[in-house]
Amino acid sequence: MTYIVALTGGIGSGKTTVSNEFKKIGINIIDTDTIAKNIIEFNSTISLSIKKKFGKKILNIDNSINRFLLRKYVFNNKNDRLWLENLLYPKIYQETKNQIKITQSNWCLWVVPLLIEKKLEKKAHRILLVDTPVKEQIKRIIKRDNISHVEAKKIISLQTTRKARISISDDIIFNNKNIKNINLYIYYFNIFYSYLSEKYHKKKIIDIKKNYLTKFY
Ligand code: ATP
Repeated sequence: MTYIVALTGGIGSGKTTVSNEFKKIGINIIDTDTIAKNIIEFNSTISLSIKKKFGKKILNIDNSINRFLLRKYVFNNKNDRLWLENLLYPKIYQETKNQIKITQSNWCLWVVPLLIEKKLEKKAHRILLVDTPVKEQIKRIIKRDNISHVEAKKIISLQTTRKARISISDDIIFNNKNIKNINLYIYYFNIFYSYLSEKYHKKKIIDIKKNYLTKFY
């Protein structure tokens, strides 16, 4: 099996920004958001269930599901959010496994925002967190998603806390500085994960988590 590094982080922390950089250097990316998007778009059973549950208010003019509106509704209703997650996650995890099977790079990056919420921590060999202070997250998502300060704060309050994420992570990219710094992390972590994957494939790992923690602060 390929060596799996799970990449997690709160909304707007920079997961896509980081995974795009790993992609550029040839690392296979398995992105649960992209998988979810494809399931909603192409799995007719799933899309029908969503349409039945939420009705016309989440549909585009052409009757397709408007993911932005869907996200808006589920972030305002915990039961609806859990319903949707429970509907999608078994399929997302199945597709994740399919994609992992066919990865070509010596390690792969599994982008999974809900790693903690869905209790998937043990499904990866290593956990890499993109960490950003909440204030910065709020600023970024207001700008990117054109939402209010209140909405941004509400979305973040529904997610796992920054502290909980830090506590389960092996490695951290602190994404609060100039974006150019990200390339240094990418360079370093690619060497590091290639090394760990080689050891893993030679079955030489005894207690890698204990010996190689790279939380930089
Ligand atoms: P989501 O959880 O919503 O999918 P994400 O964790 O994938 O978000 P990105 O989409 O990578 O986060 O980043 C969120 C926004 O913040 C984007 O508009 C991105 O360009 C910007 N951004 C990311 N990193 C930085 C940074 N270091 N400085 C300034 N802006 C940044």
